[in-house]
Amino acid sequence: PIVYLNGQFLPLDQAFVPVLDRGFVFGDGIYEVVPVYSRLAFRIEEHLHRLQHSLDGIRLDNPFSREQWIELIEELIARNDGEDQYLYLQLTRGVAKRDHAFPKEVTPTVFMMSSLLVHPPQALVETGVAAVSVVDNRWDRCDIKAISLLPNVLLRQTAVDHQAAEAVMFRDGILTEGSASNIFFVENGVIMAPPKDNHMLPGITYDLVLELADAHGMPYEIGKYDQERVRRADELWMTSSTREVLPITQLDGQPINNGKPGPLFKKMYALYQDYKAHVMRR
Ligand code: PMP
Repeated sequence: PIVYLNGQFLPLDQAFVPVLDRGFVFGDGIYEVVPVYSRLAFRIEEHLHRLQHSLDGIRLDNPFSREQWIELIEELIARNDGEDQYLYLQLTRGVAKRDHAFPKEVTPTVFMMSSLLVHPPQALVETGVAAVSVVDNRWDRCDIKAISLLPNVLLRQTAVDHQAAEAVMFRDGILTEGSASNIFFVENGVIMAPPKDNHMLPGITYDLVLELADAHGMPYEIGKYDQERVRRADELWMTSSTREVLPITQLDGQPINNGKPGPLFKKMYALYQDYKAHVMRR
């Protein structure tokens, strides 16, 4: 694969960052993940908007205009294999003598890479995935897509240790999100979702799901929901740019409802696939 690093396109195995990069030393940076379908970056305006929100959140100036980002992203896609890819974009506060406070002169490190997008296997869509519930022990700026992901890494490993695909987080007993996804549940025909506040990442897929619900007359409600309500849900879903919408059919070893993907999931999944196909045809 060909990657972009600080003004250059080069092979992945030739891309290096100095050890004093603040991303390496402090986790002082932010990132984005953008799916590419048929060589078109999906929802790119929304991703660039969230990138700006993350940069503002860590007080790092955006080195590029929207147009420059689009140009670089198009070149990265063109230089890599695969009709469907996913892009990883990362910016850090650059290289400086190790000191917690910001350096006086900042030259951000900008890194972008493309990987082949592996679509969620149909089997997962048809049977659903298992998840475990965990305590959300992260900081309170989860709206920033920060590269310092240690809590998410540890919680996801807890899920893997239990043969589960995702960790569903609860802060003070209230549903927030997954370790790398947003979480929805269904109660009496209504899609229920946590609010986009500082306790979760504002997912691009989260917004799209609610947009599709709006457009197709599927009722939804945003609120704070406790663990017992989630366990008793008729359906439980997870969403992310790379996993799209997937049903969670087991939580902590117990089935959600009858343990099968529900009717609203099937409807939303179909709407999502239609939307993708429609956008890519334009
Ligand atoms: N929450 C967290 C913590 C995530 O890492 C992700 C994946 N980027 C999401 C939610 C889902 O966001 P998106 O739909 O933009 O991929």
